[in-house]
Amino acid sequence: MKLILLGAPGAGKGTVAKLLTALDGSVQISTGDILRGAVQAKSELGLEAEGYMTRGDLVPDSLIMGIMEKRLQEPDCAKGFLLDGFPRTIPQAEELTQLLTRLDIKLDMVVEIDVPRDILLDRLCTRRTCENPKCQSIYNITSNPPKVVGICDKCGARIVQREDETEMAITHRLETYNEKTAPLVGFYREKGLLVSVPATSSDDVIKAIKAKLNL
Ligand code: ADP
Ligand code: ZN
Repeated sequence: MKLILLGAPGAGKGTVAKLLTALDGSVQISTGDILRGAVQAKSELGLEAEGYMTRGDLVPDSLIMGIMEKRLQEPDCAKGFLLDGFPRTIPQAEELTQLLTRLDIKLDMVVEIDVPRDILLDRLCTRRTCENPKCQSIYNITSNPPKVVGICDKCGARIVQREDETEMAITHRLETYNEKTAPLVGFYREKGLLVSVPATSSDDVIKAIKAKLNL
């Protein structure tokens, strides 16, 4: 399947993407994971992106388009992909449309995961992430804690609060979403690609996607 997952920070895009990869071998492409990996590796891309990310701002469109143009041409994308965190602005969406046409790729649909703001805030404040850039597993100190406090179940690295998960940066990320990313809902609705799922559980989202794709 070839999907875009739209939704505010904390809506569960990453969790849904991981569940979907298990269904048919499509790959998850998370621009946030790619960028955090680059920041930890202190690559040129990472050094450029770091300041924006810590503040909860979007990194410039040109950086993201460079990453995605390469990524979508890697062989593992042929089976299908789940775009998690991209596109995030109207210019990114417009460039993606052109890129997909050029690569002769057709999207199945764009799924908007719609979660109430109070739930988003609560989730983001209690979210913890494995600091191993190759793992980046996600936990929640109340609803999904690791077996050993502070240690990743999968790889044994420390789990930490992301630098952009302070209350100030979280509020800013939600505002940025409403201002820059929410307009994509209308953009894709006009193209007839949008499926909106009001959901508080990732399982509900999976069910809705399966039903739409007849899986
Ligand atoms: P979340 O969805 O929880 O906000 P992500 O892991 O998707 O987190 O992204 C983390 C940060 O990476 C964003 O706040 C932003 O700075 C940067 N980022 C990720 N994807 C994009 C994108 N498509 N365009 C611009 N910035 C991005
Ligand atoms: Zn880990």
